Amino acid sequence: MPAVQRLRGTADWLPDALRHLRHVEGSGLAVAGAFGYREIATPVMEPTELFTRSVGDTTDIVTHQMYTFTDLGGRSVTLRPEGTAAVLRAFAEGELRQASRPVRLAYTGPMFRHDRPGRGRYRQFHQFGVEAIGEAEPELDAEVIALAWGWLDRLGVGGTTLALNSIGDAICRPRYREALVAHVTPRRDQLGPLDQARLARNPLRLLDSKDEALEAVLATGPLVSEFLCEPCRAALERVEAALAVYGVPYHVEPRLVRGLDYYVRTTFEIWHTSLQGAQNALLGGGRYDGLLGMLGYPDVPGVGFAAGLERVASLAPAASDAGPGTIAVASIGGAAVPAALRLAGALRGRGLRVLTDVGPRSAKAKLRSATGHRAAVACLIGDDELRAGTVAVRDLRSGTQEPVPLGEAPTRVGALAAAASPLDGGGP
Ligand code: AMP
Repeated sequence: MPAVQRLRGTADWLPDALRHLRHVEGSGLAVAGAFGYREIATPVMEPTELFTRSVGDTTDIVTHQMYTFTDLGGRSVTLRPEGTAAVLRAFAEGELRQASRPVRLAYTGPMFRHDRPGRGRYRQFHQFGVEAIGEAEPELDAEVIALAWGWLDRLGVGGTTLALNSIGDAICRPRYREALVAHVTPRRDQLGPLDQARLARNPLRLLDSKDEALEAVLATGPLVSEFLCEPCRAALERVEAALAVYGVPYHVEPRLVRGLDYYVRTTFEIWHTSLQGAQNALLGGGRYDGLLGMLGYPDVPGVGFAAGLERVASLAPAASDAGPGTIAVASIGGAAVPAALRLAGALRGRGLRVLTDVGPRSAKAKLRSATGHRAAVACLIGDDELRAGTVAVRDLRSGTQEPVPLGEAPTRVGALAAAASPLDGGGP
């Protein structure tokens, strides 16, 4: 019988890697918190229409990447492929819609897309994102971009560039779309079947294509910047001016559209030089003033971004752990077991991380095991120590050992552990 294995495109997060992921995520939430964004969590499963109506039913995500199933009540349910639509639904459905605006929210959690698994691409992956809802001022667009930039900077992720664009609004975008179609249609036989379908159903998505022949066709085509209406142009200028004040370097990328239907005006991505091709975006976002209307609620403007935590984590240096080292407490011989467990409890009461080892092995084997568990300090209690009312405290990095009276042990061992940063940065 073959062994059961995890699904393709999913990952097990083993402790060291998960710790790093949590560090990356935690620093995102902390930076967001400094900008006044409060964390929100929405369900992992949602009614399918949430995504067909917002993300757009001609997008790659909706046409062939969603994990959709019919539940036992006959409802069509989808594992969320992205976070924005759900956060906006939660905003509009609950009491947040009465809160002072803009309502600033942050979220993290798993997302699901039946993508082709590959480097940096999973079927269950994690996003950290923020949404600023209820205000249309372009300075708010710059705020979420500055937040994203500040997060990557704090993590020590270098080599990033910010691509900014405006894709216009309901007034000017249709004119651009027409010009694009007029340019590409006579050259359509140079396109692959997928891009031909895009041309027919959702031509703006052509700009997302990485196909070389299409890129050549587009290179001589119209640019959205040539079609922006005056309010859209003015909004873009204000975003740029605010970014300059925040000190965030950017370049305008006239062909940047995003793979979701709900964006208007500002779109942006942060790219990393080491991530190639279609997978080079660490994060992306933009303004989505019409999104709530698509979901059947009154329209409220908003702007946000979502970042792939796996991709950011793969580029972020490991954080040093400033916390105290791990302590191993071992009894040598059965009589010392209660004393060892009591000492372990007293140390944990001080917030320390303690591994007990009360099995029948020898002192030597237990010290080897403590080192294997990457402990910084070992406390040994055997018959001699019981008689003397002491514990043998060994600094596992220097190898020095001394007897310490049991009553003083929690304080003395605690100080020794605090002085030792964890040997691995990770603990057990
Ligand atoms: P999107 O919602 O498609 O704009 O994606 C935002 C970010 O999520 C991307 O820039 C990636 O960092 C990340 N991301 C999207 N799809 C995947 C995936 N299949 N696997 C891993 N990360 C992803």
